[in-house]
Amino acid sequence: MCDFSMHRSLRLRLSQSRAPRLSCTSRGYVSNMPDVEQFDAIIVGAGQAGVPLARGLAEAGWKTALVERKHIGGSCVNEGCTPTKTMAASARVAYLARRAADYGVQLGSVTVDMPTVRRRKRDMVELWRTGAERRLRETPGLSLIFGEARFIGRRGLGAEGQRSGEQDAGGPDTGADLANMHHTGAHSTGVYHADTHRLLVRTEAGQEQFLEAPRVFLDTGARPSIPNIAGLGSVPYLDSTGIMELDEVPDHLLVLGAGYVAVEFAQMFRRFGSRVTIIHRGGRVLSREDPDVAGALTEVLREDGIDMLLHSQVEEVGGRSARSALAGGITVRLRSSATSKVIEGSHLLVATGRRPNTEDLDLAAVGVQTDDYGYITVDERLESSTSGIWALGDIKGGPAFTHISYDDYRIVKTNLLGSGGASLVDRVVPYTIFTDPQLGRVGLSETEARAKGYDVEVATLPMGRVARALQTAESRGFIKAVTEKQTGRILGAAVLGVDGGELMAVIEVAMLGGVTAQILHNATFAHPTLAEALNNLFAAG
Ligand SMILES: Cc1cc2nc3c(=O)[nH]c(=O)nc-3n(C[C@H](O)[C@H](O)[C@H](O)COP(=O)(O)OP(=O)(O)OC[C@H]3O[C@@H](n4cnc5c(N)ncnc54)[C@H](O)[C@@H]3O)c2cc1C
Repeated sequence: MCDFSMHRSLRLRLSQSRAPRLSCTSRGYVSNMPDVEQFDAIIVGAGQAGVPLARGLAEAGWKTALVERKHIGGSCVNEGCTPTKTMAASARVAYLARRAADYGVQLGSVTVDMPTVRRRKRDMVELWRTGAERRLRETPGLSLIFGEARFIGRRGLGAEGQRSGEQDAGGPDTGADLANMHHTGAHSTGVYHADTHRLLVRTEAGQEQFLEAPRVFLDTGARPSIPNIAGLGSVPYLDSTGIMELDEVPDHLLVLGAGYVAVEFAQMFRRFGSRVTIIHRGGRVLSREDPDVAGALTEVLREDGIDMLLHSQVEEVGGRSARSALAGGITVRLRSSATSKVIEGSHLLVATGRRPNTEDLDLAAVGVQTDDYGYITVDERLESSTSGIWALGDIKGGPAFTHISYDDYRIVKTNLLGSGGASLVDRVVPYTIFTDPQLGRVGLSETEARAKGYDVEVATLPMGRVARALQTAESRGFIKAVTEKQTGRILGAAVLGVDGGELMAVIEVAMLGGVTAQILHNATFAHPTLAEALNNLFAAG
């Protein structure tokens, strides 16, 4: 194993030289390689961690490559947060317009123009994507490469990979050499095994490029997971990306799944004017939330006119052919306890979860371990089982949110360039589900807190007792906080209410600062804001 822990300036000078590349191999000799370009860092995936990390490392003087196979900004900008929340804003306007009379405002009938909704969404995505791409291109020391990257291990160099005096084992590099690279406790020393840090990129133009760096960061995200259901492949079903390209309001949208992506789209399209039916094999939506929280959201969705078919297992999908342009229904045959029934919709959204983009990376070739679902296993500093290879964002398993991916970037950057000591330990995790009312969540749920053995106190407050919510006629939902009985320390909260994500953030700040329930009970908040609800929420604190 060679030592690349030389002084940065020397390493930089070497990596910037245009001379034929010399490579350091596991057995400490040097050989000719086919144009392997050396970098200080390679980042695969221009997602929520990849983009800021690439810029951060390049700005710190590292020669950095960022490889992206599709578009800058990853899922969040192109297929997730940005487009969905832009379209949800249109849906909320339609909702409020229909409720205008509640506020004493008379309007005519409300119709939704989907091509305009879609154009607004596309413009917003374009704005964020092009802005991020421009900033990347303007960053000195950063090479942005459009193409698909995968590890090649020792075999990928073909004939040139057979170095003099060495017989290639021929199989994936999972043997003794790689085992030596696995965690030893001495992370990120700059010592690395060249074979595990070399990638092949197939560029958009169809060319092959070899890259190598002592540090490789994987941020390849996740994609919709499509279940194996009889007949599904023969109908034109939609996934979370395709549904945002519709130029018509579906007559009847069937939604498979009941996670947050499913419920956000269900409510959005109900507001656009579709009849919507959620089909879910489980007994409630948002199965990770406390039953009372999930139940309250179910009530909201039902009140909005969404049909819920819970405990319903899909047996078969049929109807309109994927290859036929003919109009016609998509049928779904369901089994619910002992009965079987068929329902028909005009469109079918499959929103049954996501799976990591790890298969194409050939992780086995470099000994990076994954769990049973293909997620990369990492330590608390996000380093994988192969030293010098990190995994950030969705590919390391949940929580799968943009701000978590961004926080992963912060952890890695702090450890490499900053003060160090950053890790996943004790990270407070917030998220917001953008139904209306929103569900803002932070920290532990009641179920989780009890499972961890905390002696908990649970405080709840209906939004119907919050002045601001009443004044704006948006009083659906409730606030729930879980505290430790002895200390009043806030362990977590759920805010199902108008702008619930914003009020949740106030509670999150209290948690970060060690502010107790008692202090919030006695704090002075401006009237009439949503935050003043915290006085009453913690009334018994
Ligand atoms: C419909 C929907 C709505 C969402 N709404 C929210 C929300 O409101 N708030 C929130 O916090 N989160 C939301 N999310 C989740 C959020 O989008 C993800 O958690 C976040 O984008 C994860 O970022 P990431 O850094 O892991 O990777 P991603 O942003 O997914 O980026 C990964 C990138 O890697 C590229 N890539 C993959 N493989 C390769 C390869 N071999 N070579 C080169 N490039 C490769 C991909 O093309 C992609 O650009 C939503 C997701 C969806 C689907």
